Amino acid sequence: KLYNQIQDLRGNIRVYCRVRPFHPGKESASSSVAGIEDRTITVMTAAKHAKDARKSFTFNRVFGPLATQAEVFADMQPLIRSVLDGYNVCIFAYGQTGSGKTFTMSGPKILTEEGLGVNYRALNDLFHIQAQRKDTFSYEISVQMLEIYNEQVRDLLHSEIRNSSQKGIAVPDANIVPVTSTSDVVDLMNLGQKNRAVCSTAMNDRSSRSHSCLTVHVQGRDLASGTVLRGCMHLVDLAGSERVDKSEVVGDRLKEAQHINKSLAALGDVIASLAQKNAHVPYRNSKLTQLLQDSLGGQAKTLMFIHIAPEPDAIGESISTLKFAERVA
Ligand code: ADP
Ligand code: MG
Repeated sequence: KLYNQIQDLRGNIRVYCRVRPFHPGKESASSSVAGIEDRTITVMTAAKHAKDARKSFTFNRVFGPLATQAEVFADMQPLIRSVLDGYNVCIFAYGQTGSGKTFTMSGPKILTEEGLGVNYRALNDLFHIQAQRKDTFSYEISVQMLEIYNEQVRDLLHSEIRNSSQKGIAVPDANIVPVTSTSDVVDLMNLGQKNRAVCSTAMNDRSSRSHSCLTVHVQGRDLASGTVLRGCMHLVDLAGSERVDKSEVVGDRLKEAQHINKSLAALGDVIASLAQKNAHVPYRNSKLTQLLQDSLGGQAKTLMFIHIAPEPDAIGESISTLKFAERVA
């Protein structure tokens, strides 16, 4: 209840920012991040000591390198729970490759219980509430996992793994798998990861150049009145936002980069026009925004979660990430 009142005041788009720690053993005395407060991040844009070297950005929430997965999730929990009340929710992890998107959404490569990311925690939380409300509500929860690569959509929950150049599938054809426990979800996520890996060549870490989307569908029936509510939540680990130098890449790599630029720009345009309450929202400019059209705008809630690497040489990309977020906030 409280959450929805806050949302009414702030609108349905919010922006979070997370700065990851330095990699162990690679701690640097100088960081591109000069300060983090609850809602403000200050970065060094130029040589230290220069007067105009600092620039601050304010969002709904900023997490520093010490923030735990549990703390990050706790802030997102009301938004995630609103799917049970029939809201559509989109959560996007945005940032350059290596900035911590997958860490936030899925967790570290070697997963520990504390490391569990938003995807797992979100489903776990929904199951928890499902159990709590079982005498008054009957919830059905099901998931889809899709990947968008070069503007083609692929179903990651297809048990048959094909490494073909098969055209992008329409979403209604994608497998929707009912889930009743977190172990179901872990199994599916593993299948999705496996399918993703099989389709990428050994040389290319395709995961950083495709968008991956875990969609959770919830249908809840009020046992007393029979009223049915439907909500869905898209948890999206976006392709790396780094701009590649067009003079350096050719062929497939250039095509990938162009597709990524186009779709991230299209996403930014859609959210920015929703934030500005424009009459026309340009959903049709990318597969991603077409796919999520019903969950972007209207009563739907959007969280743009940007990620920042602290290394000084990442500052160019960090600034462009912060500007992207500033535009959609
Ligand atoms: P991305 O998905 O944006 O390319 P990753 O999530 O793979 O980036 O993060 C890059 C590396 O940094 C990984 O080894 C990851 O485990 C580590 N990392 C990212 N964020 C954090 C964090 N908040 N705390 C600790 N390690 C992190
Ligand atoms: Mg990643």
